[in-house]
Amino acid sequence: MKRDYYEVLGTDRNASSEDIKRAYRRLARQYHPDVNPGDKDAAEKFKEINEAYQVLSDEEKRAAYDRFGHSAFERGGEGNYGGFGTDFDPFGDFSNFGDIFDFLFGGGTQYRRERRPRPTKGQDINVEVTLDFEEAAQGVEKEISFSRLEVCSECQGIGGKQRVTCPHCQGRGEVRHTQTSFFGSVVTARPCSYCQGRGWITEDTCPLCRGNGKVKAKRKIKVKIPAGVDSGHRLRVAGEGGAGENGGPSGDLYVYVEVRPHPILERKGSDLYYDLELSYPQLVLGDEVEIPTLRGPEKIRIPAGTESGTSLRLRGKGLPDPQSGSRGDQIIRVKLRMPRRLTTEHRQTLEKLLELERVENNIDGNGDNRKQGRVFERLKETFTRPE
Ligand SMILES: [Zn+2]
Ligand SMILES: [Zn+2]
Repeated sequence: MKRDYYEVLGTDRNASSEDIKRAYRRLARQYHPDVNPGDKDAAEKFKEINEAYQVLSDEEKRAAYDRFGHSAFERGGEGNYGGFGTDFDPFGDFSNFGDIFDFLFGGGTQYRRERRPRPTKGQDINVEVTLDFEEAAQGVEKEISFSRLEVCSECQGIGGKQRVTCPHCQGRGEVRHTQTSFFGSVVTARPCSYCQGRGWITEDTCPLCRGNGKVKAKRKIKVKIPAGVDSGHRLRVAGEGGAGENGGPSGDLYVYVEVRPHPILERKGSDLYYDLELSYPQLVLGDEVEIPTLRGPEKIRIPAGTESGTSLRLRGKGLPDPQSGSRGDQIIRVKLRMPRRLTTEHRQTLEKLLELERVENNIDGNGDNRKQGRVFERLKETFTRPE
């Protein structure tokens, strides 16, 4: 005597299709023959569960079953399903536990399509270029050598003399496999392995690319490098990389820039730094000095009373920004230069200065700024006295 299908799945007659699916899934996992090797009872049970699910998961069959019970599916019965085939083994198709769950739960006929080859962008190529500081500062055109995969010039990428329809898939590019089972049929479309899913093959393989359709080629191209690039910058030259696949676009060429440092000027972004050492009198009295800049030596004024540690900024004397073109600054870091060696004259002058300062300080205690100002005045006289 056949058990009631709802009883088999442990659901009631009003169960939703979701409930039925869930109940079936749980039981199928529990009684699957792969989980219970050699267990005849489990195998029987699994068969029963599948049979129940096959009917209850199908709206039409479920309605027939609700109306006529098991007789709906018996040969000559009141339903028109003609009975379940006794000529197949529901276990025969499932050799592996993973497969079954993939394909049991959709119900009906499933189409599974594996991806066919798609147009893909060609390979990106990275190259490095080292520039002198001046080249980077002014911009330069550089010849860059690299190798890339190119479409074969002999066969235009076909790989042979001509294309002919793939005899294996009749040009469809895919091969269909239909698996019919207890639960319906599953149609799997796989890319044709004979033609790699293209639908065509080539005759008379091209001797240059040996059928690949592509050849490795050495290339030299001129790349315009904008003024102001710095080490670590990357330039993209679109479309100069490897040839694409299946009609996809070419890859890009990436030029990684390395810039040799300037012998004197220190670079930080678009700004340039220069350390300028000045003597005490130069700081006190001010002076005009020559400093190196990007455009050669240049004279600048040091204002009187410049303190050691001050920075002077020369606007727009730095490097251009390669994107915006706006220029950075040159920054002069002023420092006191300590004399390494004193001549007698130097020493005498400085001693005189020291003496002067002592006198000033003794009169005025520690001396206020005004008094110090006077010291500077006298100093100025000392240093500017004509020889
Ligand atoms: Zn084919
Ligand atoms: Zn070729």
